[in-house]
Amino acid sequence: MEQIISLCKRRGFIFPSSEIYGGQAASYDYGPLGVELKNNIQQAWWKFFVTSRPDIVGIDAAVMMNPKVWEASGHVSNFTDPLVDCKKCKSRYREDHLPEDNKCPSCGASDWTDPRQFNLLLKTNVGPLEDDTSAVYLRGEIAQAMFVDFKTVQQTMRLKLPFGIASQGKAFRNEVTTSNFIFRGREFNLMEFEYFIDPKNWEESFEFWLKAMKDWLSYLGIDEKNLFFHEIEDGERAHYSKRTIDIEYQYPFGMKELYGIAYRTDYDLKQHQQHSGQDMTYTDPVTNEKYIPHVIEPSMGLDRTVLAVLLEHYHEEQAPTAEEGETDKRVVLRFPFDLAPIKVAILPLSKKEPLAEIAQKIATDLRDDWMVQYDETQSIGKRYRRQDEIGTPFCVTIDFETVDDKKVTVRHRDSMKQERIAIQELGAYIKTNR
Ligand code: ATP
Repeated sequence: MEQIISLCKRRGFIFPSSEIYGGQAASYDYGPLGVELKNNIQQAWWKFFVTSRPDIVGIDAAVMMNPKVWEASGHVSNFTDPLVDCKKCKSRYREDHLPEDNKCPSCGASDWTDPRQFNLLLKTNVGPLEDDTSAVYLRGEIAQAMFVDFKTVQQTMRLKLPFGIASQGKAFRNEVTTSNFIFRGREFNLMEFEYFIDPKNWEESFEFWLKAMKDWLSYLGIDEKNLFFHEIEDGERAHYSKRTIDIEYQYPFGMKELYGIAYRTDYDLKQHQQHSGQDMTYTDPVTNEKYIPHVIEPSMGLDRTVLAVLLEHYHEEQAPTAEEGETDKRVVLRFPFDLAPIKVAILPLSKKEPLAEIAQKIATDLRDDWMVQYDETQSIGKRYRRQDEIGTPFCVTIDFETVDDKKVTVRHRDSMKQERIAIQELGAYIKTNR
């Protein structure tokens, strides 16, 4: 973890928020490379689960919803974690996060207060008055909008079951303990969808989406051997769920939840029908049968995905240097091409003309299609290492021969193999070799 955290800070992926004021616990900012990585994952997800499918549509909903939503969903009364305090050193922990030996991680004692339930919803006020009439919650999950908008979306898009509503965005939880970098924050990004079904198809649908989540993880380059599919037993699941699988990832700090998939039955739509008085039923166009749809919910945390992708693709290895027979350590992020923040680095061997002009022209042309970084300082070996460390799949070197033969050297990040390619062919070459 230390290596990842340090690389993220050093190279502008992710760093502590408001650092000049000493930071803010569990708040992080995505820097220039981090935001590209995050956007690439987010966009790929949207394509994978939404735009490439005929049966899923998207929404982008408000963070501040009518507080009645959270009463109906059960979050006001049930969205709690059990809190315990160490009587000796006064440290506070989630009871369900204590180590197996039940000892205080701070002082080693095992003398705890009785657990108290702590609500995770973050509350704020809107408008000039700070009283109960102006109180709103920042959404604790993004799912509720997809339930309350169910009827509007279904009718405006004339959708027939089964279909899904997807959404991406921030959720807020007043987590008691935050730790492990971006793994557990008080604000975090989610990507999820509600797939509305006829209840008789729930098992089949659950399996289908579980498989789709596996395919997505494989697209991210995450090795199945680092994943654990944790079937949550009766009694351990959220009260509305009939089946839940937590997809866990082998983080350096343990096997912990990355994603979840749950069969939420018709709980949410029923609750909203009851509390709002609005009809949430669906009429089958063939049989005319009227019922409240059931739902399968695949839920994927974006920040945890970013962390897993960084960990999975981080490698340290010995690689040859410019000196014959010598090697040194290289750090390389072997991101799949689609996820890499920078796709191509343009590296002229001299800052001066004529190389600079040729190199700038190549960079401008490639920018039409890809994120390009232009780097003209220090030795070529150092520049290659810098690009390896941020996961750039291709480096393009412009040397003095380029002036005559109109060719450049393309170096591949993973194999470090180099090839001489005509400038004219460069775009097509990258497209075929990515
Ligand atoms: P945990 O048991 O780790 O607290 P959870 O079971 O409460 O997680 P869900 O309510 O199922 O989490 O949330 C869906 C997804 O949101 C999780 O699978 C995870 O990817 C992500 N997630 C939840 N809480 C956080 C958080 N505090 N910071 C970052 N991501 C989170």
